[in-house]
Amino acid sequence: MTSFDYDLFVIGGGSGGVRAGRLAAGMGKKVAIAEEFRYGGTCVIRGCVPKKLYVYASQFAEHFEDAEGFGWSVGERAFDWKKLVAAKEKEITRLEGLYQKGLANAGAEILNTRAELTGQNSIRLVATGKTVTAERIVIAVGGHPTPHEALPGHELCITSNQAFDLPELPKSIVIAGGGYIAVEFANIFHGLGVETTLIYRGKEILSRFDQDMRRGLHAAMEQKGIRILCEDLLQSIARTADGRLAAETMKHGTLTVDQVMLALGRVPNTRGLGLEAAGIAINERGAIVVDAFSRTSAPGIYALGDVTDRVQLTPVAIHEAMCFIETEYKHNPVSPDHDLIATAVFSQPEIGTVGLSEEDAAKKYDELEVYRAEFRPMKATLSGRSEKTIMKLIVTAADRKVVGVHILGHEAGEMAQLLGITLKAGCTKDDFDRTMAVHPTAAEELVTMYAPSYRVKNGERVG
Ligand code: NDP
Repeated sequence: MTSFDYDLFVIGGGSGGVRAGRLAAGMGKKVAIAEEFRYGGTCVIRGCVPKKLYVYASQFAEHFEDAEGFGWSVGERAFDWKKLVAAKEKEITRLEGLYQKGLANAGAEILNTRAELTGQNSIRLVATGKTVTAERIVIAVGGHPTPHEALPGHELCITSNQAFDLPELPKSIVIAGGGYIAVEFANIFHGLGVETTLIYRGKEILSRFDQDMRRGLHAAMEQKGIRILCEDLLQSIARTADGRLAAETMKHGTLTVDQVMLALGRVPNTRGLGLEAAGIAINERGAIVVDAFSRTSAPGIYALGDVTDRVQLTPVAIHEAMCFIETEYKHNPVSPDHDLIATAVFSQPEIGTVGLSEEDAAKKYDELEVYRAEFRPMKATLSGRSEKTIMKLIVTAADRKVVGVHILGHEAGEMAQLLGITLKAGCTKDDFDRTMAVHPTAAEELVTMYAPSYRVKNGERVG
């Protein structure tokens, strides 16, 4: 008999927390889960899910144009932002309900309150002031967009938290940052008809991706009409007399726009959580420090997902939650595997990627074979749209292992998911070569690039 109120208390009702709570409750553990905002967390409420819905919405303008090349005449077009926001709201509310239903069906107690630690086994429920105890605690409180307080006028800017629910679609926007969120939202807003400028401090957008993807996407975005200002920074934001915003840049003067959005990374939600009271260590970025099994420095307390700042992705948080359940409740110690995570940037065109970029592979291996194809997708032949698909395989010369695959083009995210399996399985280029093509697809290019486009030896491109 446990002397605690709960076997497990989960703080945070996002992807990781809900999975941990639901699985533990389903095993008969006495579980409570607390969420201060909405169940579903960033992914469902103001991240991946609404983002993808808005990506779809933003693609229709091009679909209508492309249709003409296939014999269609598309009549007058009009876009209603409020209708999209309402439709999105309905869908995320449905998903939020499913998350709660899953928890309730498993027998977890659902608490709509902020929860803060008061000790190694105790938690205060802020809504009621009540303190409860638990044998184990999982912290899965996620993160939030950095407000970039050093920027004068930062309080006039929005982040991805507000972008989904703006009362009006702005006519013009400046988006600061060159990562996933900045790039995805630049494409969304542009597709919806907003005059869009992206401002990024580095030489090329998407710093952690393969150079070909970065350059290819940059060119495609500019061709669509998105203005991209690299090696530049916002200096200050001020309200103009007519209620717009004047964004002062370092190199490109003042940009006067309706909205300025900051997408400069996300920081863990650890402030005020009572971590000191429980003896939980954090790093210099405020993220909870965990070991390979998601254990914090306090016995019985675990942390998973974005609050640990390992890899800020929904499937990673879910995986970490499942490893926690295996380890703690199924006597099967499993530590999360963060190697070879396939990922996609839902830009237009998309980037799908798994494994090492050419640049990173060149640092790790003496000799590489690079297979690269650049072609016009079939649909563009009749639509007349000028666009390119780029595919790249990075292969080690010594053992022919495929260590990186990078795709810029339609459905690249879907392809990356499947390629993730092949790389995880350790497939070689010979495995790709003896795989029959699916014709006619774009993906067939991945198994029909027979000769290397060039080699990289000791970090230098040769032949
Ligand atoms: P990212 O880490 O992807 O990008 C942050 C960007 O902000 C980088 O370009 C960075 O520049 C820049 N930056 C950081 N600090 C400053 C500063 N002080 N001044 C100017 N620029 C700065 O973060 P995001 O906010 O875009 O996204 C957060 C996380 O969410 C991502 O890392 C990703 O894991 C996840 N996500 C995943 C998505 C997906 O899977 N499709 C979609 C959206 C988010 P630099 O490159 O020079 O460091």
